[in-house]
Amino acid sequence: MKKRKIRDFVRSLKFRLILICMMVGIVSGHVIRIGILQAYEKRAVSVRNIDILSQGKILANQIVDTGYVYDTSSEAITAQLEQLSQIYDGRVMIIDSTFRIIKDTYDLDTNKIIISEEVVKSFSGKGREISNYDARNRYIETLVPLVYTDAEPEQQEVIGVILISVSTDYIEANVEYLRNRALIFQVVMAVALFAIVVWLSVRITRPLKRMSKCIEEIQTGYGDSDGTLMIDEYTETMQVSEKFNKLYSRMKMLDDSRQEFVSNVSHELKTPLTSMKVLADSLNGQDNVPVELYRDFMQDIGNEIERENKIINDLLSLVKMDKSASDLNITSVNINEMVEQILKRLRPIAEKQHVELVLESFRPVTAEIDEVKLTLAITNLIENGIKYNKEEGWVHVSLNADHQYFYVKVDDSGIGIPKDSLEHIYERFYRVDKSHSREIGGTGLGLAITRNAILMHRGAIKVFSTEGEGTMFTVRIPLNYIA
Ligand code: ADP
Repeated sequence: MKKRKIRDFVRSLKFRLILICMMVGIVSGHVIRIGILQAYEKRAVSVRNIDILSQGKILANQIVDTGYVYDTSSEAITAQLEQLSQIYDGRVMIIDSTFRIIKDTYDLDTNKIIISEEVVKSFSGKGREISNYDARNRYIETLVPLVYTDAEPEQQEVIGVILISVSTDYIEANVEYLRNRALIFQVVMAVALFAIVVWLSVRITRPLKRMSKCIEEIQTGYGDSDGTLMIDEYTETMQVSEKFNKLYSRMKMLDDSRQEFVSNVSHELKTPLTSMKVLADSLNGQDNVPVELYRDFMQDIGNEIERENKIINDLLSLVKMDKSASDLNITSVNINEMVEQILKRLRPIAEKQHVELVLESFRPVTAEIDEVKLTLAITNLIENGIKYNKEEGWVHVSLNADHQYFYVKVDDSGIGIPKDSLEHIYERFYRVDKSHSREIGGTGLGLAITRNAILMHRGAIKVFSTEGEGTMFTVRIPLNYIA
């Protein structure tokens, strides 16, 4: 349980937000700290370099002017060299043109020969100063050549070099101090950032939490939700809310229609049973019932059984149609023959009702269909045309096709369907006139079966009707079945 809680928290948006913000904050703080420290170090070294160089140049001029290279007895220059050495915490050496050290403020290498790369370069560098920063050993080495500046540039001769090496330990100490301060600052910032981010992430994820609570309320029916979800803080939550509401109302509709269907089924199945019970009871309740009455009542009971049977058969057909389209048994069928067969079977009923039944085929049609299901669908349409007709009426059936679809049109001269009933006729158990339909033997399931069968074939059905004049159903089915 605890493990699950931890896992849920780690996977939560809140945790991820905190993690991302903290990471961005800490990494950027780190980068800024390193960048600033490096920039400071560079700048401090360069400032010190410039300082030493300018001091070195002033000194160089004085050395050249006083001829210190040839005679190091000048106390003033010696004192200046010592001062420079002390101020900058470094060592100053004067080297003459024979690479001999004629003055060393550390007094370690006086009179020794020094032939380092920089010194040689400095002698041949035509009066250029050289500066090097050794970051690893932390010192700056500056070489200032001693040149007669009043001579012509081509005749300027390097008579010696001042070599100043200065430690940069103090810069490093400063960097270290700044680094520590920055670290403390960074830790304080990280704590503050954490507090802000936690607060923010709670705020940001609040609408989602509300959303989940609201859905739960809708689901359980508790709380003050009015059955719709509307969290409009963000575009995303608004979109999810809208989608949820759509789905929910569709589910509600499906549930309502399922409930209605179940109650309709029970009612429809109960009606013939009730009639049978009334008939049976009235027979049982009488003594010396004449045989004719028995026969009469038994005939009625037989009719009710037949009706019950019809309803059950229609229901079974409908259930079959409700199943997925993979239940279709698709074969290549000659539609002309199929429709002719249907008409042949219905002709006796039509004749009984004195309704003229006419078929008009415009071209031979072969299509990939489920013959049983489509036969049932078209039979229902033509049967309705016959059933809801007038004496001496007619039903015209026509079959046509183009390169993509075939079309069946069932046109009748019957009683028609009222305008406001048109949108309901495909509903299960819907009948325009219940008593009339019952009389005729309708169950209200025929058109529902028809429509399902046609939709399973990816087809379409349309109805046009004028009350008192007649009804026309048009059906369009693809010639090739698309799975
Ligand atoms: P039923 O088994 O009652 O015929 P259907 O689902 O086939 O049920 O039809 C639903 C209702 O639509 C019928 O009860 C009838 O009122 C009406 N209807 C269907 N077809 C026609 C038609 N061709 N002419 C007039 N009314 C029709």
